Amino acid sequence: MKPRKIPQRKCVACQEMMPKKELIRIVRSPQGDIQIDLTGKKPGRGAYLCGKTSCFKLAKKSKAFERALKTPVSADIYDRLEADFIKVEDEFIANKENVPDDDDDE
Ligand SMILES: [Zn+2]
Repeated sequence: MKPRKIPQRKCVACQEMMPKKELIRIVRSPQGDIQIDLTGKKPGRGAYLCGKTSCFKLAKKSKAFERALKTPVSADIYDRLEADFIKVEDEFIANKENVPDDDDDE
């Protein structure tokens, strides 16, 4: 088996580096729509956040998405994202557990 580098990304809220699959991607589409991207493949500028509600709240408080996405993010959008975030959190955790762990421990 060939060693594989695990891609790491930084959480915009707590600034911790984490393997990509531990993070939830928030994307600003070319149309300017801000949404949660569980597939990690939607086009646009992305920001990564730990799959934890506490980090979402931190991002909201520190306006981390504004900086990461380089666009104003209104309170409405934060509220909508927060609701979505709570919804996808379970799905995200379930998906993570279903994915066979093929990462090498390096
Ligand atoms: Zn975090």
